[in-house]
Amino acid sequence: MSGIYIHIPFCKQACHYCDFHFSTNMKKREEMVFAIKKEIELRKDEFKKETLETIYFGGGTPSILSNSDLKLIIDSVYQNYNVVHNPEITVEANPDDLTEERILGLKQIGVNRLSIGIQSFFEDDLQLMNRAHNAKEAEKCLQIATQYFDNISLDLIYGIPDSTNEKWKANIEKALSFGVPHISSYALTLEPKTALHKFVQKGIVNPPDDEVAEEQFYILVATLKENGFIHYELSNFGKPDYFSKNNSAYWLGKKYIGIGPSAHSYDGTNRSWNIANNTLYIKTLEQGVLPIETEVLTLKDRYNEYIMTGLRTIWGVSFERISKEFGEVYLEYLKKQSQKFIDDNLLVLEDNILKTTQKGKFLSDGIASDLFLVNLK
Ligand code: SF4
Repeated sequence: MSGIYIHIPFCKQACHYCDFHFSTNMKKREEMVFAIKKEIELRKDEFKKETLETIYFGGGTPSILSNSDLKLIIDSVYQNYNVVHNPEITVEANPDDLTEERILGLKQIGVNRLSIGIQSFFEDDLQLMNRAHNAKEAEKCLQIATQYFDNISLDLIYGIPDSTNEKWKANIEKALSFGVPHISSYALTLEPKTALHKFVQKGIVNPPDDEVAEEQFYILVATLKENGFIHYELSNFGKPDYFSKNNSAYWLGKKYIGIGPSAHSYDGTNRSWNIANNTLYIKTLEQGVLPIETEVLTLKDRYNEYIMTGLRTIWGVSFERISKEFGEVYLEYLKKQSQKFIDDNLLVLEDNILKTTQKGKFLSDGIASDLFLVNLK
């Protein structure tokens, strides 16, 4: 089983913290839809033996496309790939795009999961981040969306400069009041070349505080646990049966095909990525050529990737898999490297599965990089 990710590289306006690939120039929207369809067609043989279980529209802002454009792309996926009956079809959407008519239309074209970029229910946070929606729209879209969709995820950002824990708790409570079964939540990070980075450098905005971010992370973990959510990945919390199938497949190392500018793909051996430039992406596909670069992952790359994704999830890192897939030398290395984290109660070994403890969760990326294999070929 595998999945398809489709990157829609447009946004109404640039959020101040964002370093994803997108353009605010919508002139090439129609050409982009055709280029995406073309890429789907040209790559149909790559996943000939696979069956797609999930179709995921990410971005950028997929909800910027009309429902008929999204349908054209979904139809093209069905025409060119094997797709299971009733796949998970997710569309990332921003609140300002989600009118009742839009939401109904999305349901009619087969979308069965919405991932809504709320980020905060507070007006000042939304303005600081330069989100395209306001607090009223954030609430209104959820009131409507929950009437038509049961599988809804919403995104929240913590560690916003000058935010208090009380405000953060109010954000979580508000999110819970809509009864959504999935929440993704990320710490605000200062990415180079973003507007937020410049504001901080110029002293216009205070930098995000790591200690506050850590406190808010643990407030989130505790509150969502009390409310029946399972913390199944560092940034993802779901009620049973509502984990993101698409993202879980990625974390479990399954194959996926990425379509659209900047999208990445993985076929079990190779990783490839599309050009992150809308004009060149369209032009190259118009000539019938794929705008793609590929690298063969070494055993070491795949080991490091497994450590990174495994430690972020409740599935952890299986010693049995390490031994089978990578060999005894890798297993011995991992055992030796992980011991100090086990002694510090940051990692735990349960049934031969290495996992982060509650204390180690927030540090999982840093711990993983200490377990990476750098020199062995
Ligand atoms: S809507 Fe999403 S992709 Fe677009 S600028 Fe904002 S954070 Fe980035």
